[in-house]
Amino acid sequence: MTLSTQRLDRYISRYLRVNRKDVRLILAQQRVSVDNCIATQTNQLVNKFSHIEIDGVVAQRNNAHYIMLNKPVGVVCATKDTVHKTVIDVIAKDYEKTILNELHIVGRLDLNTSGMVLLTNNSQWSESLTSPTAKVPKCYQVLLENALTDEYINAFAQGMFFSFENIITQPVKLKILASHLAEVTLTEGKYHQIKRMFGRFRNRVVALHRQSIGQLQLDSALPVGESRRLSANEVLMINKPINL
Ligand code: URA
Repeated sequence: MTLSTQRLDRYISRYLRVNRKDVRLILAQQRVSVDNCIATQTNQLVNKFSHIEIDGVVAQRNNAHYIMLNKPVGVVCATKDTVHKTVIDVIAKDYEKTILNELHIVGRLDLNTSGMVLLTNNSQWSESLTSPTAKVPKCYQVLLENALTDEYINAFAQGMFFSFENIITQPVKLKILASHLAEVTLTEGKYHQIKRMFGRFRNRVVALHRQSIGQLQLDSALPVGESRRLSANEVLMINKPINL
C-alpha cells in the first residue's frame, strides 16, 4: 500500500484558494512549515500525515497513530476474530472508535506469544519496518523445554532450509542466557519461525516473548495488556540501523 502524496504548492493553492504565483510568494516568505521545518520548495511532497502550518496556524494536523501494546498470551493478532480476544479488543478502552477502525498490526505474534506489538494507521511506516529488505531486527526471549547447547548458535547463524517456503532463513543471532533460556534476534518473520527453528532440535518452545523491534524496547513500565502511544522520537528512531 503506498501513501498518496501531493505537491506542497498544490496543497496550499487549494487550501488558501490562491493561484500558484501567490503560493510561490508565500513559500519564499517562509510562512509555511511542514513537520515543524520551514518549507520553501514548491515541489516538496506532503501526505495525509504531514503536519502543515501556514502563518503559524495549523492547516493540517498529523493524524498518524503509533501504538505499542504489551500483548498478553491468548490474544490474537487480528483486528476481528470470532473465537479469541483480539489486540484491538485489548486496547479498545483507551482509543476512540474512529482511531481503532483505522489501525493495522505491524508484524504479528502468535496467539501464545507475548510482548511488543505495534499498531498504526501509517502503512508507509509499517512497511518500512516489515519489508524484507529493511531487515529490522526483532528480539525475543525464548524459554525451552530442554537444555540448550552451543550447537544451536551455529545452526541458527547459518540458516535453516524451510521446505514449505523453499527458503533458507536469514542468519539468526542466538544468545544462551541460561540452560533453558535464549535470546533470539530475527531480521525476518516467517510463519512460526522461532518454534520451527527450535523444532529442528526437537526442543519445544514453552514461552516466547518479544522484547524489541529495531531500536525500540518494550516499555518495562507497561503492564501486560496495556498500551501507550509512541513518542515522536520513538517513531523516528525505531528503524534506524543498529549493530547486532
Ligand atoms: N516466531 C514464532 O514462532 N512465533 C512468533 O510469534 C514470533 C516468532
